[in-house]
Amino acid sequence: MTETTSLPTRTVFFGPPGAGKGTQANLIAAHHDLPVMDMGATIRKAIKQGGGAGDKAKSYVERGALVPPEIVIEMAMERLAQPEFQGSWILDGFPRSIAQAEALEAYLAQPEHAGRFVVVNFHADPEALVSRLSGRLICPQCATVYNTQSNPPAQADVCSECGHHGLTRRKDDEPEVIRTRLQVYSEETQPLIDFYSQRGVLVTVDAMQEIGTVTAAVETALGWTNGVGTAHG
Ligand SMILES: [Zn+2]
Repeated sequence: MTETTSLPTRTVFFGPPGAGKGTQANLIAAHHDLPVMDMGATIRKAIKQGGGAGDKAKSYVERGALVPPEIVIEMAMERLAQPEFQGSWILDGFPRSIAQAEALEAYLAQPEHAGRFVVVNFHADPEALVSRLSGRLICPQCATVYNTQSNPPAQADVCSECGHHGLTRRKDDEPEVIRTRLQVYSEETQPLIDFYSQRGVLVTVDAMQEIGTVTAAVETALGWTNGVGTAHG
């Protein structure tokens, strides 16, 4: 007799800058006690700790070169091999290319990694994101961050924390810079959206709703509506 355990659910989150994907990944991971692999953080940590793919990546970073895609795949696979990733998980920032998606598909096709696989696409109108992100202002004196739409200072252009007059906008938050970032994201991600759409595993969620509504929509899509955590470990 073998013990009956429910199969894990593996998820990938896609979403443009400003759509709240990282926030949702962390909220949902906390609700269901799951690990999130944030690929950017994983790469930085692998390089810092050294060993395996981290050492290979370091040699590129040290001479100012991009880490080759196959080494990024190696780092992702090393992370997924760790004990905390043997149950359900969420990936944020991986895969970012078809080659990476194929590597992940091969990983999930192994019998010991059997389970459900769902890709959540956080959809948002680009111009709505431009207006959300370009509303971000920062106090040059104490670095407090405001948003003219969602978190304005009590008095316009005056820092509520330190009283400094004259809030500024970072270069990265200028509308044209944001539009370029969104365009780059879209070009990079569309082939992956098509790849997963063809496989019937893609779920699209309206990311411009209230945070709690978005969380509930993702949990419904993943079948986690009853608040029962998923089995893992
Ligand atoms: Zn201030």
